[in-house]
Amino acid sequence: MTTAMNTIREIHDAFDSGKITPLELTKQYLSQIKASKHNAFITVCDDRALKQAETLTTELKSKHGGKVPRSAMPLYGIPLGIKDVLTMDGVLTTAGSKMLGNYIPPYTATAVIKLENAGAISLGKMNMDEFAMGSSNENSAYGPVIHPTHSDRVPGGSSGGSGTAVAANLCAAALGTDTGGSIRLPASFCGIVGMKPTYGRISRYGQIAFASSLDQIGPMTKSVEDAALLCQVMSGIDEKDSTSSDAKVENWLQTARDTKIESAKGLRVGVPKEYFIDGIDAEVKNAIEGMIQKLKTAGAEIVPVTLPHTEYAVATYYVVAVSEASSNLSRIDGVRFGVRPPEAMQAGSLAEFYKKVRANFGAEVKRRIILGTFALSSGYYDAYYRKAGQVRRLMRTDFENAFKQVDVIVSPVCPTTAFKLGEKSKDPLKMYLSDIFTIPASMAGLPAMSVPVAKDHQGLSIGMHLIAPRFHETELIKAGRIVELLSGGAT
Ligand code: GLN
Repeated sequence: MTTAMNTIREIHDAFDSGKITPLELTKQYLSQIKASKHNAFITVCDDRALKQAETLTTELKSKHGGKVPRSAMPLYGIPLGIKDVLTMDGVLTTAGSKMLGNYIPPYTATAVIKLENAGAISLGKMNMDEFAMGSSNENSAYGPVIHPTHSDRVPGGSSGGSGTAVAANLCAAALGTDTGGSIRLPASFCGIVGMKPTYGRISRYGQIAFASSLDQIGPMTKSVEDAALLCQVMSGIDEKDSTSSDAKVENWLQTARDTKIESAKGLRVGVPKEYFIDGIDAEVKNAIEGMIQKLKTAGAEIVPVTLPHTEYAVATYYVVAVSEASSNLSRIDGVRFGVRPPEAMQAGSLAEFYKKVRANFGAEVKRRIILGTFALSSGYYDAYYRKAGQVRRLMRTDFENAFKQVDVIVSPVCPTTAFKLGEKSKDPLKMYLSDIFTIPASMAGLPAMSVPVAKDHQGLSIGMHLIAPRFHETELIKAGRIVELLSGGAT
């Protein structure tokens, strides 16, 4: 068996029939990672992964009669990539930053524990924009990640290592985190499925915080079915995260499997007029409109909807995100957390010490700390953070109104396909606009997904963005699977 675009179901069938063992598969991925030039991993956990794989391989025969125990351990022997913003006990966890270049956490993120308890193998820690701030993965202190098929392009960010690794077959699936689009954008650029569940669905315990009211862990996979399965395994309340939800976790794997093209009949699909603006690449627009047409032909009802506050989304997001980031990152000061460089020890004052330590953040992170500190400072809090919260409420109401008429909302994920390395890195405002379609769902805490639907004339992937009401992952997965089937993906 080769690992070329194998889904979890295909891998499990191959284990069952004895074509390959978890250990052989893990070795295959590790050698593919070694040979790869994508810079997708910051740390490869060879020994840890091989040990996990060895145990699972032995137990497959001795304990499970050679058949994958699918219901007890639905990720049995599946090698995964973990974004380097999620802690793993004893494993270097940098969040893409030099500041955490020596941070070995003493605990593991709940999401990772749940995956490993379900039989998953962690291959390593994926490269990412520093502290998940970015849209292209060019903000990593460990160098940019290269797009899986076009070496002059970015993979999208901030979960760029995860996106490239899944698409380039360096792992079976990966974890990303999404604050304003960081799962969905790289999924779209790399041609894979990316899902951001409802805010609170998956515990954030062990996720190094960027903007706590927006951050959410989610899967990046080769199929909607795989995304459904990973999401199902990771979801649920966690006493270690007070924002995690006890909303019922459904059998989303079954939802994905049961969905057929015919399931489109009666599905009400909302198309927001504000998302089809000037400036969208013509090929992206055509691809999304083409898929909307296919949905209609398959029996879906296409309903124009309006989300009137969309125009404020990016501006509002960049007040909320930078404010929360400046607060969250204050602990990374060389005293509580963070590398303390030798020159800092020579500092003559506390202020000088802080200056020397915090000089080691990258330019984008510094920009955000400065902006966030300003926005939260006394006298400005009401004008910025509080005001942003009010606009956020309006955006949420927009969605609530739209969802009175429709089951899901669709749009492009991004106005463009993967852009060139260096093309936008000098212009932060231009870069920020890459997330114009993904930010509103984040601001409203809604579940959303990116599903590949087409390629442009250069062979670069185009993703469709689907958004569902809060805690309606079942509808999201169903709609995502229909779109996947209609585009001829993951059989
Ligand atoms: N690109 C957005 C930002 O830079 C979103 C990042 C994310 O979702 N982590 O903030």
